[in-house]
Amino acid sequence: MQPRLIHHPDGITAVDTEYLRPGHAASHIIRHAGHAAFVDVGTNDSVPYLLAALETLGVAREAVDYLFLTHVHLDHAGGAGRLMQELPNARAVLHPRGAPHMIDPQMLIAGSKVVYREERFHQLYGELVPIPAERVRVVSDGERYSLAGRDLELIHTPGHALHHYVIVDEAHASIFTGDTFGISYRELDTPKGAFIIPTTTPTQFDPEQLVASIDRMLGYAPESMYLMHFSRVTDVPRLAESLKAQIREFARIARGQADAADPYAAIRAAMRDLWLGMAQRHGGALSDTQIEDLLEDDLDLNTQGLIVWLRRQNKG
Ligand SMILES: [Zn+2]
Repeated sequence: MQPRLIHHPDGITAVDTEYLRPGHAASHIIRHAGHAAFVDVGTNDSVPYLLAALETLGVAREAVDYLFLTHVHLDHAGGAGRLMQELPNARAVLHPRGAPHMIDPQMLIAGSKVVYREERFHQLYGELVPIPAERVRVVSDGERYSLAGRDLELIHTPGHALHHYVIVDEAHASIFTGDTFGISYRELDTPKGAFIIPTTTPTQFDPEQLVASIDRMLGYAPESMYLMHFSRVTDVPRLAESLKAQIREFARIARGQADAADPYAAIRAAMRDLWLGMAQRHGGALSDTQIEDLLEDDLDLNTQGLIVWLRRQNKG
């Protein structure tokens, strides 16, 4: 079991969770004064990689104090119950809207099966292990946690999901953003820097909330954002502008295609064109086909999320 690790500054290590493909999703380990925390953990299949990463880093399982689960989408938190069984002193830290679903995952399983279908759900996520209630900490907006003296501020950031928070490591000008600061695959890096896209996964995407959450994070003047998909980006102001412009454009596209014969196909095609145009202007060596292959799953999930958002709008 050879974990793929990226060593970042300030005691931060990214571990590839091997979800879907290498380079798609990263859990982060924060080490400080002999203690450690995970930020997001991946799925059940990720757990052996995370345990191997601890071993490689020389971190005892007893030294892990927290699992910070930014939100309860299963590519982030699906393996948490199983991982907790291996970490005797760890507490799972969750948004108040997310915590009940990790203690009793039945609703989460049902909801995810709607998005992923039964067979694919089992293939991706397996059997979810509940987290015992006494090992869960529910985090209020602005609450501070200490990792062996390292001050972390947890702020609620709706927009991608209502059960989302991010972790501000102000002393190191860093924020662990879950999915609130979008997705940035390293394959799309060019001499111009990182390429970034928002994620509007069903069922709680809200463009105004997401823009407000990005602005709130910018208020801390972070130099590094640690994304689940995929790890560290800098050049934060440029990326934030790109995210906000795309979010507004998605909302415009979705509203414009609401009455199309096939809104799904129309929204997906418009988003694809937007991204291919952006990627071309960004430079880089990949062909349109390669870029589309890389972003295919995100096109599908984002389109589904926009359709759900449109329906919610129409209900008033
Ligand atoms: Zn998510």
